[in-house]
Amino acid sequence: MLPDVLIVGAGCFGAWTAWHLRRAGLKVTLCDSYGPANARASSGGESRIIRSGYGPREIYTDWTMRSIPQWRALADRIDPGLFVQCGALFLAPGEGGFAAATEAAFAKYHVPYERLFAPELRRRYPHFQFADHEFALYEPQAGGALARRSIQSLVRLMISEGVIYEPRAVTSADAARAGHTVYACGPWLPKVFPDLLGRRILPTKQEVLFFGPPPEHVATLGPQHTPCWMDVATGMYGFPDLESRGFKVANDNRGPQVDPDTQERTVSDDAVAHARRYLSWRVPILANAPLVETRVCQYENTANGDYLIDRHPDLRNTWIAGGGSGHGFKHGPAVGEYLADLILGTGEPEPRFSLASKPEFAEAGALSSM
Ligand SMILES: Cc1cc2nc3c(=O)[nH]c(=O)nc-3n(C[C@H](O)[C@H](O)[C@H](O)COP(=O)(O)OP(=O)(O)OC[C@H]3O[C@@H](n4cnc5c(N)ncnc54)[C@H](O)[C@@H]3O)c2cc1C
Repeated sequence: MLPDVLIVGAGCFGAWTAWHLRRAGLKVTLCDSYGPANARASSGGESRIIRSGYGPREIYTDWTMRSIPQWRALADRIDPGLFVQCGALFLAPGEGGFAAATEAAFAKYHVPYERLFAPELRRRYPHFQFADHEFALYEPQAGGALARRSIQSLVRLMISEGVIYEPRAVTSADAARAGHTVYACGPWLPKVFPDLLGRRILPTKQEVLFFGPPPEHVATLGPQHTPCWMDVATGMYGFPDLESRGFKVANDNRGPQVDPDTQERTVSDDAVAHARRYLSWRVPILANAPLVETRVCQYENTANGDYLIDRHPDLRNTWIAGGGSGHGFKHGPAVGEYLADLILGTGEPEPRFSLASKPEFAEAGALSSM
């Protein structure tokens, strides 16, 4: 007989794990203390970039290729607007290094892409500025997922198909039950397992700003004419104006350590000033644009940026899925598939996602999701 599963956390990782286990015929109960993709959760933001470019970390390229069809299928089933295929632009300071490694992975995993130098970038995106040395990889099949709406829709769909959802907090003591338990608690994992993960997962404050396009540039800054973009040299990234919420800009560099339960969700003056300085160079038509909305979220970083998807070393039939490290959303479907296979005993563990491969933070170098 198939075991039943309790999944703790209805964010992106927990929800997609529930989806795959339910598909495999298991009885699934999903719990969340604050609600699916709630305002404190890492999956609770408006939008997340879905892209394949990962430099030498090609397993993530592979996982994006596995995930995109599942995001599309979800959008086709519920609302095509949940996945906006506006493309993604990876801006690098030249052709070598990170860009070259990304191209090698694109070739291996058959990712469609274009190589763009500064003259072509200026022709396609005249509202952006590019330095002469800049080079970009453009992924036409990439885009932005409407994050909170997608996860909440996925959970509603699963409830209609038999998954039990319970709005409640679960502690590590619940792991002593029959069946399997998956802790997909994102930035709360260090609180749920303080001895094991207190120094292996570090939640950091991340600030997201939405600038209102000038009326004459609303169409230009929309997804028809502006892709998602990532600037490797500065760590800045952003989205076109999705759902008329404004042009989204954020900084991938890590902020201070925070507690996801108690951190105030207000942005700092420094973050706004930094974004304005960047935009006045990169997107000059936004130099004086008003700030129309802000969000504060947190990355749930591992020291090497790799996910943690493994069995708990001491608790029977207990699993941990987390460590999205600022880039996990896009891979939710692949994470769910991988973990479901491990639980069912049909998958092979990947060493990159093991607990043993996660150093404590004292040993960590610079953190980046790109
Ligand atoms: C500003 C920002 C930008 C990002 N940009 C991107 C991007 O462009 N592309 C991308 O792919 N990724 C991106 N990410 C990363 C991505 O959003 C996260 O890696 C991903 O959403 C993590 O999902 P999760 O399910 O692990 O965690 P969460 O979404 O945080 O879910 C964990 C859930 O567990 C619940 N929970 C915790 N403890 C308990 C308990 N004891 N009992 C019951 N429930 C509990 C919480 O309430 C929460 O709902 C970004 C993240 C941030 C913050």
